[in-house]
Amino acid sequence: MNKYLEQLVNLSQIDKKIDSYAPRIEGINGELNEKKDEIRSIDEQVETIENEIEELKTQISNTNAHIVEFNNKIKDASKKSGAVKTEKEIKALNLEEDLAKDQLEAANEEISRLERIIDVKHTSEAELKEKKLEIEASLKELENRVSSELEEIEKDRSKVYAQKDSLLGEMNQKVLTFYEKIRKWAKNTAVVPVRKQACYGCFMKINDKTYSNVIKSEDIVTCPHCGRILYKETNEE
Ligand SMILES: [Zn+2]
Repeated sequence: MNKYLEQLVNLSQIDKKIDSYAPRIEGINGELNEKKDEIRSIDEQVETIENEIEELKTQISNTNAHIVEFNNKIKDASKKSGAVKTEKEIKALNLEEDLAKDQLEAANEEISRLERIIDVKHTSEAELKEKKLEIEASLKELENRVSSELEEIEKDRSKVYAQKDSLLGEMNQKVLTFYEKIRKWAKNTAVVPVRKQACYGCFMKINDKTYSNVIKSEDIVTCPHCGRILYKETNEE
């Protein structure tokens, strides 16, 4: 094979490899971020629940203050009962006492209701915290797994970069510029094999003359349809 063509085939394979690392790293980080987001969302939910519980506790203590008030009213009424004389006064006092008793009962019921709500909230809070622990454990597991994967990718990547550097050092500038020009639009398919007499970039059949030139591999041959650089694979898959 023509030396320049051989270098181009190598370079295109190296470039393809280099471009493959970013999505792999992105995919790994995406997985990690997904778990971290889940944990953050649980933290927010727990905080909301805790605020709601605080609010309910305030309501309970307010209601307790009312209970003290109603109890005092009932006590006052029974104190006054010795002093009242007329039927009318007794009736009024009884009415006052009954009202206070009703309010007391309602306040006690309200407290039980609020306490039940707090119980439910505590249960969901506990469930969320348990779920958070599970996600944290799987995040840790994932971090351990991917850290070696990332290390492997980094090692591989620096090796490939070194390969590219030394290859670029050997290459002819004109050939390189030609390649970069095609690569601008063809990305990682700037240099493609010919299989079954077809360009593997645009998948069009190439004519016999071009095909025989590709097989001879004496020159850099481009696809007459798309302009990609063509080569004949040494061992066709
Ligand atoms: Zn083509």
